[in-house]
Amino acid sequence: MNVGDKNGIACVCACLVGVISVVTFGGRLAFAEDSLLESTVVEATEAAALRGVLTQQQQQSLTPQAVLDELMAGNRRFVEDDLTLRNHSQRVREAFAGQYPKAVVLSCLDSRIPVEDVFDRGIGDIFVARVAGNFVNEDILGSMEFGCHVAGAKLIMVIGHTNCGAVAAAIDDVQLGNITPMLAKIRPALKQSVFEGERSSTNPGFVAHVCRENVRLALATIREESEILQKMEAAGEIMIVGGYYDLTSGQVSLIK
Ligand SMILES: [Zn+2]
Repeated sequence: MNVGDKNGIACVCACLVGVISVVTFGGRLAFAEDSLLESTVVEATEAAALRGVLTQQQQQSLTPQAVLDELMAGNRRFVEDDLTLRNHSQRVREAFAGQYPKAVVLSCLDSRIPVEDVFDRGIGDIFVARVAGNFVNEDILGSMEFGCHVAGAKLIMVIGHTNCGAVAAAIDDVQLGNITPMLAKIRPALKQSVFEGERSSTNPGFVAHVCRENVRLALATIREESEILQKMEAAGEIMIVGGYYDLTSGQVSLIK
């Protein structure tokens, strides 16, 4: 991982003929041709700015609520199949010098949740941690602390999803290799679930209930076991929220 030079220019690339530097600042792109000793500033279109890699200045200007609003708006575009067109090869080059993502998203391993697409984000926009059952352990906490305290992200979102196989396996108490200790980290959510009805993996209502409870447990674990993140949240520097992804629609709803 590369946090980049916090005092430096976010992105400098040599391109085209002669010495042309591309400098990203204040959400706009400017091109200056040094060899001619005259500057020509080309303001990028709003769409181009949207495609560009996030700069440190842009990251620092965001509020946690603005980041959450942006992700939810991106999810609406995903649901409407209206994803932003991005130049990935350009973004790869721009992101070389550093990264200033706006959020950390913890998701299940499930292949049906392409996290960047789900929020209409591209290279350099968000940190994504994934583990079957989207639970929080020491390694995930360390990653979140890096993402927020070191790299400046403003939001932590934990997203569970409908029909989670890991949660269903925890309900069934599956015993298999390293899956057994992994499921043990989901089972506390199962135990604390208060549910009227059949507590079985064949009951979709119960599986959904535990999936949501598992997200709430992850949020509580973050606050209880990370003094760094708890303090950042208390100071209003970050928000910590839970989401629930619907496999049938692609929609993310916030968990209260
Ligand atoms: Zn899952």
